[in-house]
Amino acid sequence: MRRAAFIFPISDSLAVHVVPAFKDNYLYILVEKGSSKAAFIDPGDAEPLVHTIETYGLKPEFIFLTHHHRDHSGGVQTLLERWNKTELVCSPWLEVKPEWKPARLTRLTPGAHFPLWSRAIQAIDVRGHTLDHIAFLLKDSPRAQGSDVFVGDSLFGAGCGGLFEGTHPQMLEALKALRALPDAVRAWCAHEYTIKNLRVARLLQENNPLQQARLAELEDRLAEEALEPHEWVTLPLSLEEEKATNPFLRWDVATLQKAIDTHDDLDTFSYVRSFRDRF
Ligand SMILES: [Zn+2]
Repeated sequence: MRRAAFIFPISDSLAVHVVPAFKDNYLYILVEKGSSKAAFIDPGDAEPLVHTIETYGLKPEFIFLTHHHRDHSGGVQTLLERWNKTELVCSPWLEVKPEWKPARLTRLTPGAHFPLWSRAIQAIDVRGHTLDHIAFLLKDSPRAQGSDVFVGDSLFGAGCGGLFEGTHPQMLEALKALRALPDAVRAWCAHEYTIKNLRVARLLQENNPLQQARLAELEDRLAEEALEPHEWVTLPLSLEEEKATNPFLRWDVATLQKAIDTHDDLDTFSYVRSFRDRF
């Protein structure tokens, strides 16, 4: 595994441990500096997470699940057994397995806030990839703007999640909710697909200079370091950059609509999603 775990300071009081797993997944641990309190987000595999917790002497208190897929939830049971005071936080629609025994279960309705230490986490409805998917927006307080959003498999670098359960209109609504967030928000997705997505996006021939420049820069760095595309780390995503270069966030942009010869937002999004599915 070439991708190394790394720590990114989100604020004076909070950091995120990014823990690569499987071929191209990212698992996350939010940590309150000073207290070492920790929260897992999408613990798909317990082993590398336990290693990180022990290495840094962290104290797990919460597990947040964006959706049910096994590469996001496969470590839940082991972690709940090991830290039996842990609270599970998920959407109202997620099927909680009977063998999971969280100390407490919170169903977070989209729009609602969950108090995380001195901060707040707001659920965003991003159903489409699955029918239980929410994103978690981290804020200083319920009334503040968000700083970071944990998007699971709803949004990727220059891409979006495949439609395993939902419909194109549902996924478009999910991406509208994410695109409505401020440009300064950082997005943390669950897979490293950015370069592949940009290579496919180029084939749509939108003739988007920012998208071309983003791909060229990443290709240069990839060649320099002799890495495979899934071994590269393109996190955190900048929402400003995604809005400018991710074709899945550009359903109403004239240059993209012209390239695929439609004038309809849903048609544009559906075409781009189906196009990506061919690769
Ligand atoms: Zn998934």
